[in-house]
Amino acid sequence: MPTNSDSSWGLCMNCQWWQIEPTAEIAEETVGFCIDENLQPYRMSITGLGGCNRFTKGQPARGEGSSRQPPTATPMK
Ligand code: SF4
Repeated sequence: MPTNSDSSWGLCMNCQWWQIEPTAEIAEETVGFCIDENLQPYRMSITGLGGCNRFTKGQPARGEGSSRQPPTATPMK
C-alpha cells in the first residue's frame, strides 16, 4: 500500500517526460533530463530514482546529450 496519497507522483524512470541517452539503460542510477514542458526551461538533470508530481506514466524519450550536466539534448517530445 503506497504511503504517499498523491496519486500523480511517480519515479522519473517510469515517466514519459524523462529523456535519456540513446543507448542508456532505464535504471535508478541513470542520469537523464526532464523534458516536461513546464520544467524544460530549467534544463533539470535527474536520475531514474528522482520523481515529482508532474509524473506521467510512459516510456522515456531518447536523445544524445541527455546525461550531460547541464543537459545539451533537444527535447524529443
Ligand atoms: S521530474 Fe517529474 S516530470 Fe520530470 S521526468 Fe521526473 S517524474 Fe517526470
